[in-house]
Amino acid sequence: MPRKLDSETKKLLAARVNYYREMGIYDFYRRPVAEAGASDEPSAATTQARDAEPEPAVISTREGSLFESSLPIVQDKPAALKTIREDIGDCTRCRLHKGRKNIVFGVGNVNADIMFVGEGPGADEDEQGEPFVGRAGQLLNNMISAMGLERGDVYIANVVKCRPPQNRTPDGDECDTCGPFLIRQIEVIRPKVIVALGAVAAKYLLAVNDSMARLRGRWYDFKGSRLAVTYHPAYLLRDPRKKKEAWKDLQMVMKYLGLKVPSKTRLSEDS
Ligand code: URA
Repeated sequence: MPRKLDSETKKLLAARVNYYREMGIYDFYRRPVAEAGASDEPSAATTQARDAEPEPAVISTREGSLFESSLPIVQDKPAALKTIREDIGDCTRCRLHKGRKNIVFGVGNVNADIMFVGEGPGADEDEQGEPFVGRAGQLLNNMISAMGLERGDVYIANVVKCRPPQNRTPDGDECDTCGPFLIRQIEVIRPKVIVALGAVAAKYLLAVNDSMARLRGRWYDFKGSRLAVTYHPAYLLRDPRKKKEAWKDLQMVMKYLGLKVPSKTRLSEDS
């Protein structure tokens, strides 16, 4: 009796087969698989694989090709970002423009391996025109330094570029109006890893409506970049017990990027 595959495995398998097809490989052969229960003794390799920390599978998304992005590499990234900023202009596309002081475009290293994506500017960001400069920003800075990096090493942007009134969560139509500019920023930066900070960024980028519990701890494919989800720093300020889990998410990112994972570090309790 052939083994039934779950839907996630099916999706991954289909993406893998497509990838081979794109490379011109069309013929596939099934390797004989031992019947379940044929041998009770696990092989050394199986035991080793089971004992090793599992590498989370990469989940293909609407924006993903499982492996390489087919997008052209942008040569002059600052110029390309400038064009995006000019296209935003003195934006009045959604209601958020009414209360803003500054459009908060994004900041950081255009060649960054990591791009952090938040939901939208708060009061400090609106005032200064830069993402994550308030209390949540201080914690994000701590998270970045816990990874052995500096703020200037990464790129930081938000789904919406204008402050929602009273810092409310941006509405779906506001995300849909502004989000395409974020997608264009990602296409220019082409980071190795995107870290979605909180549910708004994760749900917008992945076009899903899952809980944080389901979204975290996995890799997603986003236009050739890997995407990981962790808690928003503002949420961590409200519930510092979650910092331990956030640190695990960041360690997953560090491991993938080959950054040294310090054994003792944890996210600082202050700020
Ligand atoms: N929260 C966000 O999501 N983004 C910011 O820039 C600041 C706070």
